[in-house]
Amino acid sequence: MRRSPIELDAGELRVTGTSLHLDARRRAACAFISHAHGDHLGRHDRAIATPATLALMRHRLGEPKRKKTEALPASFRTPFGLGDLTLELFPAGHVLGSAQLRVVRSGPVLGYTGDLCLEPTHAAERAEVVPCDVLVLESTFGHPRYAFPPKEEILAGVRKFVEDALSDGVTPVLLGYALGKAQEIEKWLCDLGHRVRAHPSVHAINRIYDEHGVDLSAVKLLGAEGPERDEVVVAPPHLAWGAALRGVRARRTAVLTGWALDGARRFRGVDAAFPLSDHADFPSLLRYARETCASRIFTIHGFVDELAAALRKQGIRAEPLRETKQLELL
Ligand SMILES: [Zn+2]
Repeated sequence: MRRSPIELDAGELRVTGTSLHLDARRRAACAFISHAHGDHLGRHDRAIATPATLALMRHRLGEPKRKKTEALPASFRTPFGLGDLTLELFPAGHVLGSAQLRVVRSGPVLGYTGDLCLEPTHAAERAEVVPCDVLVLESTFGHPRYAFPPKEEILAGVRKFVEDALSDGVTPVLLGYALGKAQEIEKWLCDLGHRVRAHPSVHAINRIYDEHGVDLSAVKLLGAEGPERDEVVVAPPHLAWGAALRGVRARRTAVLTGWALDGARRFRGVDAAFPLSDHADFPSLLRYARETCASRIFTIHGFVDELAAALRKQGIRAEPLRETKQLELL
């Protein structure tokens, strides 16, 4: 009997028989951090991530207080050794610096997606397929009801929303998560020639994007005086009605998230919702799974049962990763 190359250790993902954790929340001796969203972050003795993720992580968590904290920057497509493992990072297309991980040692090759977006974006590296034998696949939108319309169609709707608001003399306010979605929207708006103001929490992250090759220097900070005429405001959804937006008086608000497919009732107080996502939708997850050529798939985060069932229908051995499944026959 051979053990699975991946296991859950008290709720945290770990490469079996090693100290290498994946996106652990609790402090680990060594952890790969796929990207800098809060649900993937922790302080670790040794943290392996891309330079952009490490910079975003320092911004979000602050400088480490303990000396026993080592950042190990890793570039895409550059294999390196860690004990008896060989690790390689591949772009995940989710936010700037987001990475998938490939782990090679004797036995099956392991692939780990972290959060994944297969549509090309305006502000993140384009995702690549990680060839592997065993895949740990994120399942955020792993339900058949989440099939996003073509991205050009979604963006055409957002563009009309913005232009209609401006021609009506009100400020369009676009809501997207402060790390990733906001920068995607801003870059797209700037490329269209719009003048953009960012909420302070977004603006601070823009500076890190600037330093890592995504130029958002044209985006101005939203101050107490509010936006000027013909400017578009970008802010995180949970701060849409906070103090920083008090100066935005006549406004029309849209939220940009894949969850918009659930209908407007999910969002209170917004005028529109567009399904612009930084995750792969259900058909894309299935396609990606096939392209990796993995013969064994563990689903994590989100609709794990639904996605695993759909993969099994396609003849792939798949199931949610659970704590009790530490010992597996491959
Ligand atoms: Zn994420």
